[in-house]
Amino acid sequence: MLSTMQDGHLSIGTLLRHATKVHATSEIVTWTGSGTRRETFADLGKHAARLANALRSLGVTGDQRVGTFMWNNAEHMAAYAAIPAMGAVLHTLNIRLFPEQLVFVANHAEDHVVLVDGTLVPLFAKQLPHLKTVRHVIVANGDVSTLQAPEGVEVHSYDELLASQPDTFDWPDVDERSAAAMCYTSGTTGDPKGVAYSHRSLWLHSMQVCMTDSMRLAESDKALAIVPMFHAMSWGLPYAALMIGASLVMPDRFLQPEPIAQILAAEKPTFAAAVPTIWQGLLQYLDANPQDVSHLREVVVGGSAAPPSLMHAFEERYGVPVLHAWGMTETSPLGSVARPPHTATGEQVWAYRYTQGRFPASVSARLISESGEELPWDDESVGELEVQGPWIAASYHGGSAVDPEKFHDGWLRTGDVGKISPDGFLTLTDRSKDVIKSGGEWISSVDLENAVMGHPAVAEAAVIGVPDEKWDERPLVAVVLRQGQQVTAAELREFLADKVAKWQLPEHWSFIEEVPKTSVGKFDKKRLRAMNSDGKLDVTHF
Ligand code: AMP
Repeated sequence: MLSTMQDGHLSIGTLLRHATKVHATSEIVTWTGSGTRRETFADLGKHAARLANALRSLGVTGDQRVGTFMWNNAEHMAAYAAIPAMGAVLHTLNIRLFPEQLVFVANHAEDHVVLVDGTLVPLFAKQLPHLKTVRHVIVANGDVSTLQAPEGVEVHSYDELLASQPDTFDWPDVDERSAAAMCYTSGTTGDPKGVAYSHRSLWLHSMQVCMTDSMRLAESDKALAIVPMFHAMSWGLPYAALMIGASLVMPDRFLQPEPIAQILAAEKPTFAAAVPTIWQGLLQYLDANPQDVSHLREVVVGGSAAPPSLMHAFEERYGVPVLHAWGMTETSPLGSVARPPHTATGEQVWAYRYTQGRFPASVSARLISESGEELPWDDESVGELEVQGPWIAASYHGGSAVDPEKFHDGWLRTGDVGKISPDGFLTLTDRSKDVIKSGGEWISSVDLENAVMGHPAVAEAAVIGVPDEKWDERPLVAVVLRQGQQVTAAELREFLADKVAKWQLPEHWSFIEEVPKTSVGKFDKKRLRAMNSDGKLDVTHF
């Protein structure tokens, strides 16, 4: 029997119409370095309409890809709204990709138009001659004359192009299963892979972001979106904000701890989202330059494991709870969120909060052993995590779902290794390629990193496996000290003695200035391993 219910499409156009009407006074606030530019959702609707009309005039009439090479700001938000709502596909280009990867993704997605922030023109200009399908470049917030157009490419000023356009647009009905936005993975191996989110998947994911036991985004929130709009859709904040009427604060290019602290002081956001590196930097800054940040009801950290020491520092020193979440570009990205069950008490609460979190109803999960068997959820058995659900990738753009490296019987292979508790909380111990295999046992690099980062003199610690004749691999710890702090490798080993099993105690230590990072701010262990094998690390051995 069929249902008797209406069957409206869950589209970005519907979200935009809703936001501009029902939440007309909510705001997009863009930081300028010394103040703000402000746009209401009502104005965002007009801005998006002008952009859609402009893009139509440049030949975007169907599902062409429109790239963005931009910071988090009002113009990027207008692109997020207009491009999918008009039936085209938003392709967020990661400004930190290596040049050859940037060229690869723009060509692979067949971008027709690219919107570029004026401050990023020098970076973009070098790659433009290699972009085979781009016909138009629109420069926002900057001087268009600085960009030389190769033959066959027209360069436009964003402001001039939009100025003459009507501020209404007849947003079409778009099939919810069609692609709305694309994001390429930022993996450190192989070519990036394109994930094409559907209108439906973005809509359902937005609802999840707003759910009480998830990120809890609400109409009353003013959310500081530090996580870039070119990385996993800024963790869903832009569309969730349109859905629920939360205001957004956009840091633009001002991502260093000091300007972030200024934004916090000026706008007093209630919520913020960023990777651990950003929070570590801010913590050090706040410790040296104290300021009240208790207006933050909660901040989300994900993208890499949140060190418990970081969570405690924010909560105990600044009164800001840190919510740990796990996800991937392929999972839109929200996969799990660490809100303890209401029955947890005392230390149990922290134990739950340290985990990568609990799966929501839309994310099915299973653990697979090295020999391909499904493992129990007993919080002990460790295997590769596989996930399935309506906002999880089933294949890559231009690729096939039959890719045994990434997909397995209709499940996404995450490449993450960990365990799951009987009540559905995930604890990741590693990326499968980062696990340290020592004498037939696995050592979790994440556990060691968290333990070392618990030392007050340590700002960051990254652990890699290095070849060992007797044990196959042993851990090497690369340590970045906090400014003005001193500690020796022997003292750190001593500090770990009661925190990890004796056989896991690392015997290789190196003090470095900075942990190499990927384009999205995660520890780049591939580069760290290369630095070690090239003899570029000064290592103390025990
Ligand atoms: P990306 O697609 O760039 O967002 O990277 C996704 C990967 O980041 C995941 O597969 C994990 O390896 C890692 N990751 C994301 N969140 C967490 C977390 N909370 N703890 C540990 N690793 C994480």
